[in-house]
Parts: sequence; structure tokens; C-alpha cells
Amino acid sequence: MGSSRPLARATVLFVTGALALGLGLGTTIAVAWALAAWLPHGRFTWTLALDPLLLVDGERGSSQRIQVDSFARPGMVRRTWFIQPMSAPPLPSSVFIAYFGSSRWGRGPGEIDRGWGEVPCLPALSGRSWGVEDARGWPMPSLWCDIGPGPVTGQLLARGGIPVSPPNVAVADYRALPCRPHWLGLGIDSALYALPWAAALAVLRWHPLRTWRRRRRGHCPACGYDLAGLPACPECGRARA
Ligand SMILES: [Zn+2]
Repeated sequence: MGSSRPLARATVLFVTGALALGLGLGTTIAVAWALAAWLPHGRFTWTLALDPLLLVDGERGSSQRIQVDSFARPGMVRRTWFIQPMSAPPLPSSVFIAYFGSSRWGRGPGEIDRGWGEVPCLPALSGRSWGVEDARGWPMPSLWCDIGPGPVTGQLLARGGIPVSPPNVAVADYRALPCRPHWLGLGIDSALYALPWAAALAVLRWHPLRTWRRRRRGHCPACGYDLAGLPACPECGRARA
């Protein structure tokens, strides 16, 4: 009996930790989806990046590059990319220009978070001239999806996301529940949300579950003393339930 107790305690700790992490992950997804569905699109910090590494078809001396405009606010990052002739002056994307509050100029590759999205991955852009990558989550973006024109009709389509907007709304208003993981953000957010869940589970476990387990074993429900053959607890004085 003496050796099985630490084992039982370790099992309880492990189950509680795993449960808290699972609940933390669920909370992370719920928060990201709520932000995707309801967070107003505005008050953005705008960052523009013209990355020479994003040169399209540079080998053949083609004069195209990709312009990336990032629109960030707590809870979301949206970045729109489009293929642009090199000779043209950099312009903020017309679909978002009405939305930014403050702005600054990007300085190159460092401005683009490559931990999520496909913007830097040229093969993924095949056949499209523009697109939007939308990441949601708090405190870090945890899930993302790709929004862009569909292949045949050109109507808006969410890749890796569940659309909640009809396809005929303006792209700046288009919303979809993102399903692709931004691993770093997903991990950090889940761990953070797991903490209050672990605390809640610990409180729950210390009350009804522990009392029930002690009763079932014939121990005192208040202090855990073995009540074999005793009418009341000699340890704390509680009468046998
Ligand atoms: Zn007792």
C-alpha cells in the first residue's frame, strides 16, 4: 500500500497536467476563433515589406517582386501580398489603406514573421497574383489561414480555414476560422491557458474527488486517516460518514 500511493499521486498529477494542457489548447482555439469571428478589422499597425528575397522569377531578370503589407493589432495579424513590378513605387495595398492607424516602413526580411504563413514560399504562390494571410490568437497568433481568389471564379476562398463570411464581401471584411497552426504561438498560448485550468482542476480535485476517494477506501474524508473498525476519526475527531 505504501508504495502505491506515490504512484497514484504521480498518475493524478500526470492526468491533471494532460487535462489542463488539453483544456489550454481548447481555450487557445476558442479564443483564436472568437477573434477571427468578431475582432473588428481596424486600429492596425501597418508594416510594409519589400523583400529582395521575395523577388519573383529573378533568374530571368524579370522585374517583379512581392510586396507584403502587414496589419497587426493585439489578437490578429493580417498580411496581404501581391506581385508588383519592380519599377513601380511601393504603395499600400488599396484594399487595406482605409484601415491602418499608425504605420512604419519595413526594412526587409526581418519584418516578416516566417514562423507562419507561406508568403516567403514562392511555389505556394503559383498562379495567383495576390492573397491574404490571416493569423489570430492572443497573446500570440496561434492559428492562421490563407484567403485569396479561387482558381476558377476568382471568388474569395479560405484555404486552411472555415469561412464565416459569404464569398462576395470585400476582402478587408472577409472572415474565416483559421485551422493551420502557428506552432510557437499555439504552444505558448496553450501553456498560458493551461495554468488557470490546472489551478481549477487542483481545486476541484482537492474537494469532491479526494473526499469521494477517501470514503471509498474507508478512510476519514477530512484527513485521510484509515478508519478501519473505528466509529470516528481519532486524528481529527470527525464522525464516520
Ligand atoms: Zn480525520
